Amino acid sequence: MITFNSPYLHPAAYGYIAEALNRKKLSGDGYFSQLCEDWIERELSVARALITTSCTSALEMSMILLNVGPGDEVIVPSFTFVSCANAVALRGATPVFADIDPETLCISPQTVLPLLTARTKAVMVVHYAGISRDVRKLRELCDERGLVLVEDAAHAFLSKFEDKSLGTFGSLATLSFHETKNFTMGEGGALLINDEKYVERAEIIREKGTNRKQFFKGAVDKYNWVDIGSSYVASDILAAILWAQLEVADSIQLDRTRSWDEYASRLAIWGKERSFELPSVPIGCQGSAHMFQLLTETPTQRDDLLAHLRAAGVNAVFHYLALEGSPFGRAYGQDVCVTSQSVSERLVRLPLYPRMSQDELDQVIAALEAFPG
Ligand SMILES: *Cc1c(COP(=O)(O)O)cnc(C)c1O
Repeated sequence: MITFNSPYLHPAAYGYIAEALNRKKLSGDGYFSQLCEDWIERELSVARALITTSCTSALEMSMILLNVGPGDEVIVPSFTFVSCANAVALRGATPVFADIDPETLCISPQTVLPLLTARTKAVMVVHYAGISRDVRKLRELCDERGLVLVEDAAHAFLSKFEDKSLGTFGSLATLSFHETKNFTMGEGGALLINDEKYVERAEIIREKGTNRKQFFKGAVDKYNWVDIGSSYVASDILAAILWAQLEVADSIQLDRTRSWDEYASRLAIWGKERSFELPSVPIGCQGSAHMFQLLTETPTQRDDLLAHLRAAGVNAVFHYLALEGSPFGRAYGQDVCVTSQSVSERLVRLPLYPRMSQDELDQVIAALEAFPG
């Protein structure tokens, strides 16, 4: 069986974990966390990166930082992971679901604009599959309306738009280092802060609402409860695993890109013959090779294709059910996002992970070619 994902484990990780243990600083903000944060700040050109327990935590922190509360609305994509909407709902605010553009599978100024009201406080964009054609236009729209742009860059670590890293267009952005992402620490993430006015409070929110960080820096003489917050600091043992990958980031990305390119070139005609849509990379965009997805023409074809691949020993998957139609999301009583709904019924994600062998790639492609549809 060809698995859908297989996390990258660098041999150096074992030594680094031992080193983290030997340093006897098992909680957060230790040696390896610092290395990871410095690396991310340098590579992406972001003012401050804070390693967190997950992308979900970083999204929650963003909504706390923006003082999102009851009566406020935040635009989130209909087609995304639940954490985007939860981060808003947890503040007692209303997530407003925006439809996606059929080409990019991301929200766009066209889908966001009609949803803006006097209550809108922020726009959360997800760079689906690590590609973003409209991020600059979304930032411009936010600036015109006095709104804050938050980027969920869980798919988009090391992606760029016009040579600028994704994760640096919004005032705030989030990364995921979950096992299923390009770089992993098991469970983990980061909050990226591009607007420095948020840095000090972000450090407090991440430390359970205390000024512990300032206290250890010697900036205050008492360690006290000063704001709301939660437990969003990740253990240094996990950061050690991540550091082993960041050190060889280029080779991890090259490896994934090689598999991605091979799918793209060898499936182009196959896709066209069946009227299946393969991912496109618009001008100005540089992706992260996070995922290779395709869209069948009909929902039945999607279900048949998944079953066909499974029978051929290939574990392909699909994801994201339109959030406004979910059992919890329905309570918000919003209109159906037609494109999101349609895409959720036609999407297939192919296996893609670092060190995929030529044999594995050949097997997946042969299974696709044998699909009768
Ligand atoms: C994976 C993912 C998340 C959640 O990441 P965690 O680190 O598991 O919390 C959020 N948003 C998107 C778009 C994701 O792909």
